[in-house]
Amino acid sequence: MFVELFDAIFGCRHSRYSFPVTVRGAARRTKAASLTGTYVACLDCGREFPYDWQEMKVVTSPERHRARVVSLAAKRAA
Ligand SMILES: [Zn+2]
Repeated sequence: MFVELFDAIFGCRHSRYSFPVTVRGAARRTKAASLTGTYVACLDCGREFPYDWQEMKVVTSPERHRARVVSLAAKRAA
């Protein structure tokens, strides 16, 4: 109850994530997974975020990670 109220006022801080899930091929349908092929879900609000296995980091802001995302995409295309 308090957490939901907090999220409603301040927005979710996304502090707890599920274990990273890697999807392949046709299963790669969510926007989050399409970026790196792996995503995590916020356990509080359910939002999905791309996850970078190499950096062991959640990509919360694609703009800030644009260079990294471009290199990942290039690697996958090769
Ligand atoms: Zn969240």
